Amino acid sequence: MESHQRRLTKIVCTLGPSCSSKEQMLELAQKGMNVARINVSHGSREDHVRTLAAITELNVKHGFCIASLIDTRGAEIRTGDVQDPLEVTKGEEVLFAPTTLKNLPTDRQIIYVGYDGFSSDVRETNQILIDNGEMSFDIVRIEENGSVVGQALQDGSIGSRRHINLPGADIDLPSITDKDWDDIAFAAENDVDFVALSFIRNASEVEEVRALLNKKKSSMQIITKVETQKAVKNLSEIIEASDGVMVARGDLGAEVPYEHLPVIQDDIVYRCRDAGKPVIVATHMLESMTEHPIPTRAEVTDVAHAATEYTDATMLSGETASGKHPPVALGAMDKILRATETHLSKFPADQNIAIQGDGDARAQSAVSLAKSSNAAAIVVITNSGQTARRVSKFRPAVPIISLTNSHGVQRKIQLLYGVYPLCIEFSQEEETVVRGFEAAIKSGLLNSGDQVVVISDIQTQNKPVTSIQMRTVQ
Ligand code: PEP
Repeated sequence: MESHQRRLTKIVCTLGPSCSSKEQMLELAQKGMNVARINVSHGSREDHVRTLAAITELNVKHGFCIASLIDTRGAEIRTGDVQDPLEVTKGEEVLFAPTTLKNLPTDRQIIYVGYDGFSSDVRETNQILIDNGEMSFDIVRIEENGSVVGQALQDGSIGSRRHINLPGADIDLPSITDKDWDDIAFAAENDVDFVALSFIRNASEVEEVRALLNKKKSSMQIITKVETQKAVKNLSEIIEASDGVMVARGDLGAEVPYEHLPVIQDDIVYRCRDAGKPVIVATHMLESMTEHPIPTRAEVTDVAHAATEYTDATMLSGETASGKHPPVALGAMDKILRATETHLSKFPADQNIAIQGDGDARAQSAVSLAKSSNAAAIVVITNSGQTARRVSKFRPAVPIISLTNSHGVQRKIQLLYGVYPLCIEFSQEEETVVRGFEAAIKSGLLNSGDQVVVISDIQTQNKPVTSIQMRTVQ
């Protein structure tokens, strides 16, 4: 069975110690990384500056178009530092205590938490989860001094700074911490393409970040991570306020009963598509490849499922950041997506997607014309990226070759389903189209003689109008 020549679903790779050298990053770019994610919960500012410079080098020196994404830490709760991991047995009662609490009883093991409001947040949940649910504790009692007695539901070992979830609790911390504000400002000042916001609960938090970016005159786009019950509840307003969304299944799967996760994922992807906002399905997609060179069959099916629902992008986390086989994991994701897209290309994409306004109507017509005319590609001339975004919304089965005159726009539309962005100089309309064809031939995206649909603005006597043309590439 042959696979598609060009992959339409994009891949976000998380960078980290397993792929931090320039050579390793070059290999990921060559193997199909579209967006490079830096998780600022890990590493130093110096590391991040170095990584951003290496991404720029891939683009400027090697001619790739890799977008950068900085993922903030958000208001997460972690366990304190320990010299040796705490060994806990199933049924054992342990004490969770803020690090500031003194004179604690010595009759049980103590798990310190770096947050004084812990006991009041615990009232809103019935379990404490560590490392996204690898260990869980029933809440036995909340003591007057602000400590909490929990009973372990499994045997396990708890090292330093482990991540804690309190499913359903509205944590009494601002979603965007001082560190996050500092990281967001750093990202904006360093021309990063996307910032991913962690543990967001409502649209007003996204709007606060938007206000900072406007103040800084930054074009950085905001990807909101949906990973709390509150965010799921406020999904519509969050999608509207954001430039894109990430289904952050690690935390989300701990915050909601995990059996609800597939339905929530489908809902988020569908609603983002309907709104024309890019969506990334993230976490544990090929988790076993952190250790092993081949994925489990269930992982293959999970990646294929994301492609089947036409997500814009799938993401690799530990598989590339700290795994043993980053390029192999990326190659596996690439192969699964291509094979699934080849299968999907035989069926029309679900077109019950909302047509909002004239721009969407024209984009949808271009996609429909490309299909009925068997075009090899759709060629879009786009200043701001908006027309590329609209065409991508209707998920054509052929590449959307998007010509823009800005490298920043080129990188931002790289996240979109099916978009192959090229940066060219713009001039008078016909000249721009011809230059675009030449650039696409040079990049191997088109061949002379290919039939394409071109969507662009042309100048009429007094104003520009959108034209949709059928053209043969010369
Ligand atoms: C997640 O929880 O799925 C996620 C992407 O967030 P992080 O990796 O930053 O915890």
